[in-house]
Amino acid sequence: MMTNDRALLFVGAHPDDESFGPGGTLARYAQQGVKVYVACATRGEAGTIDPQFFMSGLVTTGDVRWAEMQCAAKALGLSGIFHLGYRDSGMAGSPDNKHPEALCNASTSAVAERIVRIIREIKPQVVLTHDPHGDYGHPDHIATHKATVMAFYAAGETKTYPTAGNPFQPSKLYFNVFPRRFLKFAVRVLPLIGQDPKKFGRNKDIDLTALVGEEMPVNAIIKLDPAALKAKKAASACHRSQLAGGPPRGGMLTVFQRLFGRRDTFTLAFPTGDNKRENDLFEGIP
Ligand SMILES: [Zn+2]
Repeated sequence: MMTNDRALLFVGAHPDDESFGPGGTLARYAQQGVKVYVACATRGEAGTIDPQFFMSGLVTTGDVRWAEMQCAAKALGLSGIFHLGYRDSGMAGSPDNKHPEALCNASTSAVAERIVRIIREIKPQVVLTHDPHGDYGHPDHIATHKATVMAFYAAGETKTYPTAGNPFQPSKLYFNVFPRRFLKFAVRVLPLIGQDPKKFGRNKDIDLTALVGEEMPVNAIIKLDPAALKAKKAASACHRSQLAGGPPRGGMLTVFQRLFGRRDTFTLAFPTGDNKRENDLFEGIP
């Protein structure tokens, strides 16, 4: 297969997950001529942003964050972005959970159908999404993970979602995993700079200590060259509303990424039964 027949899809929950997560890997493949797409379940409506970000034409938080996503797509060299059409659920227990369009109120099967439609349209050999713990326990990341796994296995079936396009079976499914040594480091260092690792992030609702024990196997390590790192940095900077003021989730991640971000790590979910370490997500695909 020629490189330019290759396509990769990352399915994430919110605008910024693609850049603060596997952005370097997405950029690296785009720079190699792979068509790289991002499907985003929500427009990040539940995030709090400062008033200066509401510029002309950008009325809601979702508008601002989607514009940031378009900026990031350009920086990463993406071939396209999709919105799955749901609303940010916020963290567990927040009032945003009750919104009828919140991702947490949609069935996994309904979300999966929308992902299947995209898979059948763009035909990616490789699909990436959040890990089963939702990175740091965000319900939308967990919901996105579950729907993507269901969609991966359903996309190639003729009888499943028959109105969502012609069957296409991607070859490999990966979960993006934060290196545990990153979390261990964060839990030790945050108290030194006056932050509670149990109340991490812009909304102070992420307990990093709870995640340290959650081990995910690392089956693929993608090293990021200077061009990929530069693109990731530019894409991360696009998410200005998430980087402004206080010690935000994104800003802090940027600091840690400077220490740990020269490679991305992934768990291979399909095909299973092989514990080898890969350094290319397309390894084994003819
Ligand atoms: Zn997110």
